[in-house]
Amino acid sequence: MEITGIEVWKDIKIRLKEELDADIFDTYFSGINEVYKESNNLIYLIVDNLFIKTRIQNNYISRLNKLLSDYYAVAHSFMLVTKNEVEEEKEKKNLETERNNFSKVNNSGLNPNYTFSTFVVGDSNRFAHRYATLVADQLSTVANPVYIFGDVGLGKTHLMQAIGNYILESKPELSVLYIRTQDFVEEYVKCGSRDGYDKFSAKFENIDVLLVDDVQFLESKKQCQLEFFKIFEKLTGNKKLIVLTSDKKASELREIMVRLTSRFEWGITLDINKPDKTHRISILNAKLKQETPNPEIMPEEVIDYIATVCESNIRELEGALKRVLFYCEAFSLEYNLENAREALKNVVSFAAAVGNSIAPTEEIKKMFSVISTYFKIGQDDLLSNSRKKDIVYARQMCWYIMRTKYDLTFQKIGDIFNGKDHSTIMHGCQIIDSESKHEGETKKNVENILRKMGKDPNAV
Ligand code: ADP
Ligand code: MG
Repeated sequence: MEITGIEVWKDIKIRLKEELDADIFDTYFSGINEVYKESNNLIYLIVDNLFIKTRIQNNYISRLNKLLSDYYAVAHSFMLVTKNEVEEEKEKKNLETERNNFSKVNNSGLNPNYTFSTFVVGDSNRFAHRYATLVADQLSTVANPVYIFGDVGLGKTHLMQAIGNYILESKPELSVLYIRTQDFVEEYVKCGSRDGYDKFSAKFENIDVLLVDDVQFLESKKQCQLEFFKIFEKLTGNKKLIVLTSDKKASELREIMVRLTSRFEWGITLDINKPDKTHRISILNAKLKQETPNPEIMPEEVIDYIATVCESNIRELEGALKRVLFYCEAFSLEYNLENAREALKNVVSFAAAVGNSIAPTEEIKKMFSVISTYFKIGQDDLLSNSRKKDIVYARQMCWYIMRTKYDLTFQKIGDIFNGKDHSTIMHGCQIIDSESKHEGETKKNVENILRKMGKDPNAV
């Protein structure tokens, strides 16, 4: 009979206990009691956290694999996965099954966590939220269709699914279907024949509430739009509720037939905007309660910091919070500002780096956009460490303007640019300064850029 991974591990654990210091054994190995999976001659052990994983990987893995060779004729190895990684993988699998279930009409495809109770209301989404609850309660008598639009990561999918979840719960006799437009298009393309198309649209006939996410993906898909139009007509004709989301207003959708976009505007349009800082802080506090049983471990100033650096997107905001929590937990660190900064060092994005400066944010952003267009260089390149000549020059131009027009310190500018040293910034500014003192390319560039930014080049 074949020996299982867990049996082997139990045996090896006894041997390790004999050969290692008690301290080391207790810290790293005594808590490993589970095998996640075995495949391709790999045995995956579950460890508590990243710290233990890294330590074992760096110091003990070859010893472990050597011990393992006593049990198998063919070479086997141990792999280490943290509890978090196991959770993440499971979540991914759930998501896939959810997607595969799309074809089954009686499965709503909704994520049960996207409810009104987990949706934090603030100025940016108050109206949309209010109206969504009304629609969830009274269905198509309020407005039909409901068109939710806003930038990525601001809660469109969440709000739409909250409507669906509410209806499922309050009126369980109704059938609710959530679909992503990408899946709709893919399924449609797969049909291949008229017969196939008929079967496809028949699936939607008995739906009471249809939730279609990201309709901008219908752009340029002529045939698919036609099919969608028919479904839309039939459902709205029967007073069935349709909710749509998009990253654009209906009137701004391109390459979509007008009879469809104009239908999108028949009902009500709800827009969701960026949350302000107070709203971001309430969202973080709400998420913190979901993530940990003791939310008080996180000091207010850390929440404030995360809310300051992640300003444009709730998904990012959530991600940053999880990252800080995970980082401090994995390395047994205190939840303080310094460690939060360290945890977010590589993820604080362009906008956040700029937004976190003391400068008038909008103007600095404008400067980045003007310089980027002027030199035909991406904004991310400006902030990168690339040493390409033209990029370096454009980057120095940014520093010079930030220093002379916005009075930012060399240190602050350095912080924004990947933590560069203040002497590097000073040197860059001096180069542009001396070149712009006499007639020539650089002088012209500075003047043109300032003009495009709406500033007077001659003002001091
Ligand atoms: P979109 O569909 O607009 O790209 P999502 O609905 O997927 O954005 O939201 C991104 C993430 O942010 C999700 O995890 C969602 O739960 C969360 N989120 C968005 N808005 C809110 C909110 N008002 N309150 C709580 N969480 C929110
Ligand atoms: Mg979405």
